[in-house]
Parts: sequence; C-alpha cells; structure tokens
Amino acid sequence: MPQSVNKILDHAPLFREPEYQEMLKRKREGENMPSTAEVAKIEDWTKSWEYREKNFAREALTINPAKGCQPLGAVFVANGFAETMSFVHGSQGCVAYYRSHLSRHFKEPCSAVSSSMTEDAAVFGGLNNMIDGLANTYKLYEPKMIAVSTTCMAEVIGDDLHAFITTAKQKGSVPNEFDVPFAHTPAFVGSHTTGYDNMLKGILEHFWSKLERKEVDHLNIIPGFDGYAVANNRELKRILGLMGVKFTILSDVSEQFDTPSDGSYRMYSGGTSIDATNAALHSKATLSLQEYCTPKTLEYIGKLGQKTAALHYPIGVSGTDELLSTITALTGKPVPAELTLERGRLVDAIADSQAWLHGKTYSIFGDPDFVYGMARFIMETGGEPRHCLSTNGNKEWEEQMQKLFDSSPYGKGCKAYAGRDLWHLRSLLATEPVDFLVGSSYGKYLERDLKVPLIRLTFPIFDRHHHHRFPTWGYQGGLRVLVSVLDKIFDTLDAYTSETGVSYDLTR
Ligand code: SF4
Repeated sequence: MPQSVNKILDHAPLFREPEYQEMLKRKREGENMPSTAEVAKIEDWTKSWEYREKNFAREALTINPAKGCQPLGAVFVANGFAETMSFVHGSQGCVAYYRSHLSRHFKEPCSAVSSSMTEDAAVFGGLNNMIDGLANTYKLYEPKMIAVSTTCMAEVIGDDLHAFITTAKQKGSVPNEFDVPFAHTPAFVGSHTTGYDNMLKGILEHFWSKLERKEVDHLNIIPGFDGYAVANNRELKRILGLMGVKFTILSDVSEQFDTPSDGSYRMYSGGTSIDATNAALHSKATLSLQEYCTPKTLEYIGKLGQKTAALHYPIGVSGTDELLSTITALTGKPVPAELTLERGRLVDAIADSQAWLHGKTYSIFGDPDFVYGMARFIMETGGEPRHCLSTNGNKEWEEQMQKLFDSSPYGKGCKAYAGRDLWHLRSLLATEPVDFLVGSSYGKYLERDLKVPLIRLTFPIFDRHHHHRFPTWGYQGGLRVLVSVLDKIFDTLDAYTSETGVSYDLTR
C-alpha cells in the first residue's frame, strides 16, 4: 500500500498511486459505466448550442443554484448582534449546514442551535421542541438575545413562532422580558438574502415596536449578506470615521467571524448591542449597501419616518463614489481629502494596468448586488461582463443590469440572467466563451470543465483561505479587487506562454 506510518500521503497525491487508479478503473467496470469515448461524445454535445437551448427551456429542475436557503441569511444576520444566539426551529441537519457553510468560509466557529424537530414533531407540531430548546439555549449558552428563524420542516407544518415563543415564555423557558425576536424564513421561497431581510426586520420590529421615535443626527448602515463582512465592515467604519459621521451598523459580524487565538474561546464577540439597536430607531436615515438584502426592512424603516437609500455592493471607483455621495446626501458630511486621494490612487492603478485589462471578457455569478457591483467595476477597467447570472435575482434586477450595460460601451453584448443556475452558466460558457469567470468556490468545477480561469470574489470561498480578511469595498477595497483580477490575468498569461521560445516575460 502507498500509505504507511512513516510517510502519510495527503489525499491529493494518494489517489494518484497505482493501487487507487486500479481500484477506480475496477469500480467503473463494476458499475458498468459507458466507454470513455461515449462519455466524451455526450460531454461534447452538452457544450453545443442545441443542448443550450434545451437547457434554457428546462422549468421543473434546478441544478447547482448559486444561492443558499433563507435560514442561512437569518443565522448570518443574528450573528451580527451582540451576545445573540441564533435559534433555528426545525431540523438539526439544516442548522449543521448553516454552521458549516459559515465556518468553512470564515474559518471560524459559528454558533447556532436547532430545536431538533424529528418525526413526532413533524406530525404533532414543534411546540415542545421550542419550549425545551429555548430553555436549554438560555441556560447553556447564556445569551442576551435569542433570534429565532425556521427551516422548511417547521414552515411546511405551519408552526406559529409568535404563539410558540409566547407559550414557551409562559412555561418559564426564558424570563418574560427576555428578548426573543423571530422571523419566519420558509426556505422554499427566496434565498439567503430573503432570510437576511426577514430576520433583520424581525429583530428591529421586536425592539422598535415598543419605542417612540425622536429623530437624532445619526446614520444606520445595513451591510447585507457579505462574505467579506469582516474586512468590509472595518473599512466602512474607517471611511465613516474619516467623514465624521455618527453611525450604527445594524448587524455587524466583523468581530464574531474573526476572533483571535489567545487561549480564550469567545462564543460571542462584538456585534450591534441591544442599546445601539434601540437607539437606531431615532436615526435620521438608514442606508442599505445591498438593495436585494433589505427590501422589507427598508420599507418598514421608511414607514417609521427615516430616510432610506439602497446601493449595490460598493466595489470600485463609481461604486465608492456612489457610497460617499449618498452618505454626504444623508448626513451633510463632505468627503475628506484623504478619501479623494485614495480615489486618485485607485484610478491611477487601473490606468497603470489598462493595457492588460482592456477588452477582457468575463462571466460573473453570485447575489444580485454583488453581480451588479462587480459588473460595474469590470466595465470601469475596460472589461466586458458578458454573462451576469444571479440565481436569486429577479426581473427588476435584470432591468437594472441592462441599464448598467447600456451606460457603457463595454456593456454592449452583455446580458443578465436572473433565476438561472450554474448548469445554465455552463452552457453560456461553452457556447459563448469568455476570458475569466468571477464568483465563489462553486465556480471551480466550471473552471476545470470549460478551462475558464476562476477569480474568487464572493461567498462562499471554501477552497482558499483568508480572502475575507481583506476588504473589497471602498477605494482601498477596489485596489484589492483589481489585484485579484490582474493576478489571474498574469497567472493565466504565464501558464499560456510557459514553453521556451514563447513570450514568457519577466516584466508584464
Ligand atoms: S432548503 Fe430546507 S431542508 Fe434544505 S437546508 Fe434549507 S431549510 Fe433545510
């Protein structure tokens, strides 16, 4: 055997050893697999225009959607509130998925509990699970708030969270005055961005419905579901500090998903405190940095009398310009010289690399606001975002994207695809190839299959480490996005020219 105690092989070299190759060959034979030639023939056909048309005609099946389900967004948003335990009413396996998804991306533990409904609860309802679950969570994890959301299972049987939490309080699971905000997050509707919206609105309603609003000169910021929140929220705070704006970030996960290794485990770290959440009712305005994460929340806040505004993931020059000018419009604070200087540096860096950036073509996939912000940035660099795909995008998003394409000569021939999945994207890449693919780690299978280099710039990133520790928002973040794109361009060029006698240059 190739494996021995003296030389432990990692799985990557191990499966290349003859014994394993032989085993895989025998497995193919044992399973009566079609010949390699037949597989290649069908594979080729699935890359044709004929197959693309069939693929785009499909209605009843989704293959590899680029989205998570609602409770994932609810768990994320709850993690941004101080000393808050996320409690998901429903099946345990679902909650393991949210925890592992967030842990694998942030490389941090993610706490969330489940009411662990099983067959009996599916038949008789999950009230007892709620009563026991809230009591255990309160005693074991000592939170200041428990934020309750739901999985498919609880929603299918129609459990009523308001009634259940009231009964659990009457039964003494938690003290009557203890904060248990909740949101129904049916996973078969919308996506993690919908769950983010529902849970945030649920938390704000829970606190604000008891208070009377008295306006003060303060700004609330909602970052939205963002895999780069650790660094982006910190960059945001730096920018707001430079502008002299008094602000509250509603759901700030930057500390929770970036705890230090110093010998103490922190179940809770940072986040928006209950006092700050209460005070945020009185703010003059609320700014969402991801429109598609906050439609219901902003509607609710607007009805209370605050000004509201929503942006699309502020990447790059014009994305950051829009962020700063909106903050100025909402607060009256001007943009300081230091930020203007940073803007000039980003513009300079894009200009320095123009010869390599101009005319490159891209496919971008991810959440609607990320795809919008990234496409806008790509066009600023002289690139063409040919295929822009968002499984959780809608018709309105498609129209916004088309307007964006129409605003630049680099948007000619570009198209947005809402509600489509990564198998649709495969057809697009196979029939209308592009130079680069921008998205999450899930793009790596498309990269291997269709030989389109992948630039990882959005959640989830499982197969590379620590990307989320460096911002993508603001002018400084724009530099980092630019470098990610350029590194991939140059790595690809070096691989393409690596034979002797071709243009394998030291200076690019
Ligand atoms: S879609 Fe439903 S079953 Fe699947 S993880 Fe989400 S809540 Fe659970």
